[in-house]
Amino acid sequence: MTVLQQPQGGTVGGNADEVLAALQNALGESELLTGTAISDKYLKDWSGERGQMPLAVLRPRSTEEVSKALAVCHAHHWPVVPQGGLTGLAGGAVPSEGAVVISLERMSGVEEIDAASATLTVLAGTPLQAAQEAAQQAGFFLALDLGARGSCQVGGNIATNAGGNRVIRYGMARDLVLGLEVVLADGTVLSMLNKMVKNNAGPDLKGLFIGTEGTMGIITRAVLRLHPGVTGANTALIALTGFDAVVKLLRHAQQRLSGLVSAYEVMWADYYQSATTVGGIRAPLPADYPVYVLMDMQAADPEENAERFAAILEHALEQGWALDAAVAQSHADAEDFWALRDSIAEMLNAYAPTINFDVSFPISLIGQCVERLRAVMADKFPGIHAMYFGHVGDGNGHIVVGPLPDDNRQTERAVEDAFYEVTRELGGSVSAEHGIGIHKKPYLGHSRSQAELDVIRNMKRAVDPRGILNPGKILD
Ligand SMILES: Cc1cc2nc3c(=O)[nH]c(=O)nc-3n(C[C@H](O)[C@H](O)[C@H](O)COP(=O)(O)OP(=O)(O)OC[C@H]3O[C@@H](n4cnc5c(N)ncnc54)[C@H](O)[C@@H]3O)c2cc1C
Repeated sequence: MTVLQQPQGGTVGGNADEVLAALQNALGESELLTGTAISDKYLKDWSGERGQMPLAVLRPRSTEEVSKALAVCHAHHWPVVPQGGLTGLAGGAVPSEGAVVISLERMSGVEEIDAASATLTVLAGTPLQAAQEAAQQAGFFLALDLGARGSCQVGGNIATNAGGNRVIRYGMARDLVLGLEVVLADGTVLSMLNKMVKNNAGPDLKGLFIGTEGTMGIITRAVLRLHPGVTGANTALIALTGFDAVVKLLRHAQQRLSGLVSAYEVMWADYYQSATTVGGIRAPLPADYPVYVLMDMQAADPEENAERFAAILEHALEQGWALDAAVAQSHADAEDFWALRDSIAEMLNAYAPTINFDVSFPISLIGQCVERLRAVMADKFPGIHAMYFGHVGDGNGHIVVGPLPDDNRQTERAVEDAFYEVTRELGGSVSAEHGIGIHKKPYLGHSRSQAELDVIRNMKRAVDPRGILNPGKILD
């Protein structure tokens, strides 16, 4: 009898050899990696959290195989960790000691685009970018977009309820999911591949699996909503006097463009300067303005909107909100502007080890929040680099702090304690879009009441009574 110590202190009992034999029997040896065949890539994600050695990594090719694997693990009370593209920033996919990892990497491909219904049906292991490209080829737009698009998987995006660059207009992953196929902890397959926007036939079951980071079930397929009429965008990079001006411009642009602003990404000077030096990105505007906004408005014919869009920028300059602005004259220009925002991937490497904050507040409080956090850094952690940016049109701020000193996570914990205290005081959320995973568990109580946590625990017990699915993630 092997007794596995789970990270949160619970125990899962069973016999490792029996579990392996049962998995081999159910799936065949070729789907299983064990021992030295398990490469380092399965042990970590982008959060910097490092997992422990799993018993096996399974790479199923079908929902049926996922179901068989879960039925075996359920029967043996054995922990299972679902893995997507491993770009998560909260440690949700890192394995606990001896767990069975189920990687969705072989379940990839777009199965159907239903043009009449404007839906795309996709296997969960499909890279987001592949799904975006398939939608585009069919004349549609898949509105979910984030910097990790080349590596993250649609299943991982749904399991984390990913946000990204287009939330201001189209919502988060949750708002784009019409249907899901999910395998429960005991192997039961829930086939909820609904294509309808309206479906009030009882509670919205699929919602239970969106944003719950693989703790309630394994997503194997999804039906996503597509948007028509997007062939390009009017795009501008604007330098502003400060955060008040950022909010004024946002409100003005939303009003003049009838709510069609499709991205409103804010970069404070420290971010802009890092992106254009360490990140190696060309600076379309000088680097000494207080704050920059990357704004765009997507449309079927951006040319038609060029005047309207330019008028907004002129107004911002006349009002003294904007100090400078560059309007993209071509697709290449727009890509250059976006490269500034997307260079976060390179910067996470350049400034490693980093802490990546992903907090949200009512938009009106974000400027105040950044000021408070800057004061914390100057007072308690002078000399450590911090960059402020985010999807501010959705109230979402990101802060990257690093490189951290090599002091066994002492500084990391101290910075997190200080930042999340500010988040609690201002009534914000400790996770806007990255999830809780293991990394933010100590701070979940800053944003959730005890009564809410109890309900989440009860829901988990109802669908995974043996607690085998991603144990120790989100909650103990
Ligand atoms: C450069 C960069 C930029 C990023 N930008 C953004 C951004 O703008 N917005 C944003 O929201 N996030 C962003 N992220 C974070 C990350 O890309 C997202 O969280 C993404 O949705 C994770 O997808 P993944 O496939 O990599 O999931 P993984 O990291 O593999 O897993 C994430 C969680 O989902 C679970 N999971 C994975 N697949 C499944 C499945 N099929 N069924 C059930 N559970 C599953 C895992 O157990 C884990 O808990 C960024 C990350 C990087 C590195």
